Amino acid sequence: MLIKDGIRIDGRKPDELRPIKIEAGVLYRADGSCYLEWGGNKIMAAVYGPREALPRHIQDPTKALVNARYSMASFSVEERKRPGPDRRSTEISKVTSEALESVIFTELFPRTTIDICIEVLDAEAGTRCAGITAAAVALADAGIPMRDIPVACAAGKVDGVVVLDLTSEEDKEGEADLPVAIAPRTEEILLLQMDGHLTYKEFEEALELAIKGCKQVAKLQRQALLNKYKTFEVK
Ligand code: UDP
Repeated sequence: MLIKDGIRIDGRKPDELRPIKIEAGVLYRADGSCYLEWGGNKIMAAVYGPREALPRHIQDPTKALVNARYSMASFSVEERKRPGPDRRSTEISKVTSEALESVIFTELFPRTTIDICIEVLDAEAGTRCAGITAAAVALADAGIPMRDIPVACAAGKVDGVVVLDLTSEEDKEGEADLPVAIAPRTEEILLLQMDGHLTYKEFEEALELAIKGCKQVAKLQRQALLNKYKTFEVK
């Protein structure tokens, strides 16, 4: 049983997020960076660029290439992961690149590449959402012009209840997981994936809950950027 008297296994209510900590600009050599802790996840994101895309034949004369690479450290999961890319990290890299590219003004930087490294140091479910959230802060920290700062959060279904931000146990034992990334200003959906089964009504409820979660996380992203750059008190 994962939910008892309306309370989840880690003491949260169905619509509560795990604790989140975000710090912008933590790496000296990257153009932009972010360290994020989200529940048991620990993630470092670094941005390099825009810089000349090489070799030259990969250059796009009309826009910058956005190349996110999601990578899990061997020690980040319970059962040691073989180092290097695999099907899962290739998929997550692809959907992350696409979600982020859609908000970046890539046409301002033709023939260049914007590289985003997402390193998962500790994993406890929801790493793709945490990775996108951290990468977005790193992009803003690098001064990359964007329409909005993307943010991601998952909802799902556990013991028949629609819940926000699944833990590892809820992800494994639950009925569904629905990671969502949005541009919070317009509520445009940048990523939507689903594992498991939901009725249409539950799907609507989960999507709404995930978007609410995204908006809470978006406030923490902005606060992290303000903490790094503020030179005066913002009222
Ligand atoms: N996981 C793992 N080993 C792996 C991949 C994933 O233990 O090789 C765990 C990890 O905690 C991850 C969770 O399974 O966060 C859920 O993975 P999923 O593919 O659903 O992606 P995520 O929820 O992290 O975006």
